[in-house]
Amino acid sequence: MTIQWFPGHMTRARRQIEAKLKLIDMVVELLDARLPLSSRNPMIDEILQNKPRLIILNKADLADPVITDAWVQYFKRDGHEVLTLDAASGQGTREIPERAKLLLKEQRDKRAAKGMNQRPIRALIVGIPNVGKSTLTNRLAGKSIAATGDRPGVTKGQQWIKVGTEMELLDTPGILWPKFEDQGVGYRLAVTGAIREEILNVEDVAYFGTKYICEHYWDRLAERFELEEPPQDMDNPNDVVEVMEAIGRKRGCLMSGGRVDLEKASKVILRELRAGKLGRISMERP
Ligand code: GDP
Repeated sequence: MTIQWFPGHMTRARRQIEAKLKLIDMVVELLDARLPLSSRNPMIDEILQNKPRLIILNKADLADPVITDAWVQYFKRDGHEVLTLDAASGQGTREIPERAKLLLKEQRDKRAAKGMNQRPIRALIVGIPNVGKSTLTNRLAGKSIAATGDRPGVTKGQQWIKVGTEMELLDTPGILWPKFEDQGVGYRLAVTGAIREEILNVEDVAYFGTKYICEHYWDRLAERFELEEPPQDMDNPNDVVEVMEAIGRKRGCLMSGGRVDLEKASKVILRELRAGKLGRISMERP
């Protein structure tokens, strides 16, 4: 899904989430574990106000586990509940209702003290496109995907999805936009495939990715493409392009006359990176 974000769309997206906040006890903020800050909405604190929030680092199966641990600590230091997840396989999803209860413990204890019944915790999933909102919703819904019917204050047609007996999700997640103003954010998102690279130049995106991987995961790149030497000077574009060309030659991305077709090479690099052929890679460090 590609969404063109204009100021009008952002305002509407924001209003849609703000309207739903009244219906819920907590928010599940979905981030991409490989680039948690770049996949985060720049106005998130303002939009969610003080709603209790569980941060989920999704696609953890693709991210560098050591870096993911560092991110978990980073968000914990900020006072958030954090969970890592692989929504695609379902790894970690079971823990969500437990964490939700922990997050809302104070509220729930108060209700219990007053002798009130505990009702299911109501939550809204929010995140930028492609971060895994639908996948997670389907995972949590499991086989028992069932609307619990209209409730007071709920717009007609608004459905709740039961997650076991203790949690309910609003069926349509909140879609947020990333921080477009920052060029690095755009490139990181494009490298991981979170935004379509056609928006940016494919060679630029591959260059950005190759440079980062040369800096942080050279051994993996060298092994995969049988490369000899890392770029002499990472800040010299020619040296990084030489690595891209070497990869292109290994993969037969040649034009007539034997020159490397850099566009083809770029596509190979991005495809293999996204498919996890270089192993678990994070594009951002705390
Ligand atoms: P949404 O736009 O936020 O609803 O994102 P989707 O749920 O449609 O997911 C976007 C893509 O990411 C899909 O191809 C999913 O299969 C994939 N995906 C979602 N979660 C995970 C995950 O935890 N690990 C991996 N490897 N892929 C995931």
